[in-house]
Amino acid sequence: MADEVELAERVRGELATLLPAEDAAAVDSALGELIERGRRGEPVATPILKLLRAHPELRRRAAELADPATHRAVVPPPGARQLPLAPRYVCPNGDYEYFHINVSRAVPRCPHDGAELLPGDPG
Ligand SMILES: [Zn+2]
Repeated sequence: MADEVELAERVRGELATLLPAEDAAAVDSALGELIERGRRGEPVATPILKLLRAHPELRRRAAELADPATHRAVVPPPGARQLPLAPRYVCPNGDYEYFHINVSRAVPRCPHDGAELLPGDPG
C-alpha cells in the first residue's frame, strides 16, 4: 500500500481532534473515498496530499506522521503560505507528479514511461 494511503488513514483517524466538526466530516468522506481508491491500486497520492495541504492542521500533522525526525524542515514557519508538504518530483514528460514523503525510500521512476523523476517546483 502506498505511503500516502497509510498517511491518509492515520490522519483520518485523528480528524476529530484536528479539525472543527463541520470540516472534519467533509474531509473524512473525501479521505475515505481516496483511501478506498488507493486500496484498489488507483494513483491517489496527489489528491491525498492536496487535500491534506488544504488545511494547516492536517498539513502539520501529516508532516509529523510522514517523517517525525525531520518534520520541522517541511512544516512552514508561522505566516508562511503554501509551502509543499514534501519535496515534489515530476516526470520530464509531464505525465506524473510524486511527493517524496518518506525520504528513506528512493524516488521511484515514472509509472507511465519509466523516466527518471526530476525535482519539481513546490506543488
Ligand atoms: Zn512519465
